[in-house]
Amino acid sequence: MSGPKVAVVGGSIAGLTAANVLRDASCEVDVYERSETLLSGFGTGIVVQPELVRYLLERTSTTLDDISVPSHEMRYFDAASGRNAGQVDAGWRFTAYNAVYQKLLDAFGTERYHLGKELVRVTPGVEGASASFADGTEVTADLVVCADGGGSVARAQLLGRKPDYAGYVTWRGMVDQRDVSPETWDFFQDAFTYGLLPDGHIIAYPISQVSSEGEVTGETRLNFQWYWNVDAGAALDELMTANDGSRRPVSVHFVALPASSLEQFHSRATNELAPVFRDLITGAPQPFVTIVADADVSQMAFDRVALIGDAAFTPRPHAAAGAAKAAADAWALADRLVEASGDVREALTAWEPERLAVGQAYLTKVRAMANALQHGGEFPPGAAEFRFGLPKPA
Ligand SMILES: Cc1cc2nc3c(=O)[nH]c(=O)nc-3n(C[C@H](O)[C@H](O)[C@H](O)COP(=O)(O)OP(=O)(O)OC[C@H]3O[C@@H](n4cnc5c(N)ncnc54)[C@H](O)[C@@H]3O)c2cc1C
Repeated sequence: MSGPKVAVVGGSIAGLTAANVLRDASCEVDVYERSETLLSGFGTGIVVQPELVRYLLERTSTTLDDISVPSHEMRYFDAASGRNAGQVDAGWRFTAYNAVYQKLLDAFGTERYHLGKELVRVTPGVEGASASFADGTEVTADLVVCADGGGSVARAQLLGRKPDYAGYVTWRGMVDQRDVSPETWDFFQDAFTYGLLPDGHIIAYPISQVSSEGEVTGETRLNFQWYWNVDAGAALDELMTANDGSRRPVSVHFVALPASSLEQFHSRATNELAPVFRDLITGAPQPFVTIVADADVSQMAFDRVALIGDAAFTPRPHAAAGAAKAAADAWALADRLVEASGDVREALTAWEPERLAVGQAYLTKVRAMANALQHGGEFPPGAAEFRFGLPKPA
């Protein structure tokens, strides 16, 4: 017999993990994704945390080697002088967003993955919940799982909460071997590399290359982010204005980047960075810029509606576990639902306090990391409080 009917809104990491684990828990699941096309995530890198890949490793034939590349160290440099500031052994693996997305989608299938469904309103209720979409359609379900990301429409509607600008942006890019010198390529292999600056930082690491079909090719590329402090107001508005004159709320992708922004990006790299960092940054064929913002929430369950992943707590990226938190929210929801024998409200009552605690603890951790990394604070190599990953449950 089929369990509760579930509508998942948002079909990225949180949404697809929820869809898979809830379907495995006998729920009847449909996913409603705003995008008109399958997602690409622009191929950006993700550090592999156990929670992120748990579904793939436990319930599909995917192996870590299928989707990720290993490394053995975290290394710290002064990005201006190139001076080595230490290293620690750390066996992280790195993947690309679209590698994980594609595998999660393969596991769920596309039959009940509905594209072009933009949530405009969610309606919690004791007997049932509903989700209304911009195309005028509406679905009702026993449980609506809102996994609509950092800019969540559901969170804004239910809690009046939008992310707060964190005071800095991140320039992101990827380079292939042909884009940089052999010295630069070799320099960034087999490690997660920090380039520390008095007013910002760079991170770089190798990731799997993924074909346009979402298949890992076996080749690697380098993924980087360069975080700039930018005051809210005129300076931020200028940087986030695209070449069509529109002020973008979250990202200005390469195709929309004005020449003046690209020039500023290249000239800062040329003037401020040591040769390997400069070569990496200026080698990226298609850099793009994204605002860093975060949000906390006081509530994640509303009768038969749940907020999960970035739609609940939106964390800054510094502990590399935002996607892992999103996946863990989904696993916990399925576990509580099974324990409650499919009683949605009982399950949500048990689920919410635990997930609020994890979200709050993780946000506190990444804010502390940001204070050190963006403001020249103490960032000792390998310091326990700055290690990647989710906080352990109390
Ligand atoms: C620069 C950067 C680097 C990061 N690096 C890492 C890392 O190394 N490791 C890590 O674990 N995490 C990392 N993260 C965090 C990670 O990307 C997010 O935590 C993760 O993607 C959250 O997944 P999600 O499914 O909750 O939200 P998202 O991935 O944002 O997905 C939300 C989905 O909802 C859809 N949607 C939005 N609005 C609507 C709507 N109204 N109706 C229907 N659908 C909608 C979107 O199209 C999207 O598909 C990083 C984040 C950033 C910004």
